[in-house]
Amino acid sequence: MAGADVILNRLCNLQGTNFEVTDCQVMEDEIVWKIQHKQDAVYTCSRCGVENYTCHDTKWITLWDVPFGKKNCKWLVKRARILCSCSMNVYVEKLSFRSHQHKLTQRFVDYVEQVLCSKMFTVADVARLFDLDYGTIYKIDHVVLRRLIHELQIPDPINIAVDEKSFKKGHSYVTIVTDCDLKKVIWVSEGNKKLSLDQFFQILGAERCAKIQTVSKDLHTPYAASCAEFIPQAIEVADPFHVVKKLNEAMDECRKELSVGSVLPVGKRKIIFRLNWVLRYKQKNQSEKNMASLAELAKINEPLYFAYLHKEAFYDFFNFKPTEVKQAESFLIQWIVEAFKSKLKALQAFAEYIKRNTKILLNIILTERSSAISEGINRKIQVIKSMAYGYRNLNYFMLKIMQRCGVLGSMWKPANL
Ligand SMILES: [Zn+2]
Repeated sequence: MAGADVILNRLCNLQGTNFEVTDCQVMEDEIVWKIQHKQDAVYTCSRCGVENYTCHDTKWITLWDVPFGKKNCKWLVKRARILCSCSMNVYVEKLSFRSHQHKLTQRFVDYVEQVLCSKMFTVADVARLFDLDYGTIYKIDHVVLRRLIHELQIPDPINIAVDEKSFKKGHSYVTIVTDCDLKKVIWVSEGNKKLSLDQFFQILGAERCAKIQTVSKDLHTPYAASCAEFIPQAIEVADPFHVVKKLNEAMDECRKELSVGSVLPVGKRKIIFRLNWVLRYKQKNQSEKNMASLAELAKINEPLYFAYLHKEAFYDFFNFKPTEVKQAESFLIQWIVEAFKSKLKALQAFAEYIKRNTKILLNIILTERSSAISEGINRKIQVIKSMAYGYRNLNYFMLKIMQRCGVLGSMWKPANL
């Protein structure tokens, strides 16, 4: 059996290096390893890589290593400085086991990367878990994500959804492409202009673009021009998530129409104004209290109550089967006619929108597209935004979307392999 010193060196992965363990103290909450040069050590210049036989001086440095159970592991390493012929200046020697950027061993950085890539912990979680500062973990996370994105192969998409998301309260935007079959984000780029989506299609290449069969996108963005140029064959499908969102926004406008600027008595206006969230819920999800508010609404103001019921009726559209497109079309026409009968401008504007886009709305039925994917991804992005990450830059936000909602990072491997 190998001697205890050999085993300790193996534990620290020091075989084949110029270093060896010279002491090991086990305390209540940490283990301190003393690591020094071997007798016949040579010193590698960190500037040029040449080996030197003499050292200028030495200095103890501290590195943190992978914890041993609940005990943190501190390495005290005697590091040499050498007067190297490459510049005739004093340089520190190269340490193969030390991470380039942090006061950590490389194997600790690898381990932290692996934990971050498990997608089970946030940066703050990992910082707490390993007793390291937030800034260090943030940097490791950013570096590993940047590395993985370079190696990422975009899967061949057949059905895609394109959407924009704001970063920092609407100051800047990112463009997000989702593979509707994988149910994952496969692309994020800066901006919400045509160019932002062009980049995706250019990287995908003509051959793979030609295989895209359907695309759903928000209608009021320059994405249409990009799709027309790169994927003219793809059938356009409205995104049910956006349609419902638009409908809810219209309801809110109706509420404002009748409360803020209306000629109704103050009492009625107040009741209507308070209904903000009540109007957004589907009837089947309403609480008893909300149902009471709705009953009150039914009594005092018919137009808004009608609008609410009409909104509710719209959801039935999504229940049609691909074989019932004709019925679905009649349903939409009937819905539009009824909406125009109301005196509410916002509801009429939504009806106009449905009228203009009937064809792509019917494609929802034909392709059986559901809003579940967009909903799920939007919810996750909301979580990313609300976490106390303190996103320092847009690039990290984009990478985080690719990781948490997308295809990035599930296959982690260390940097040098
Ligand atoms: Zn040198």
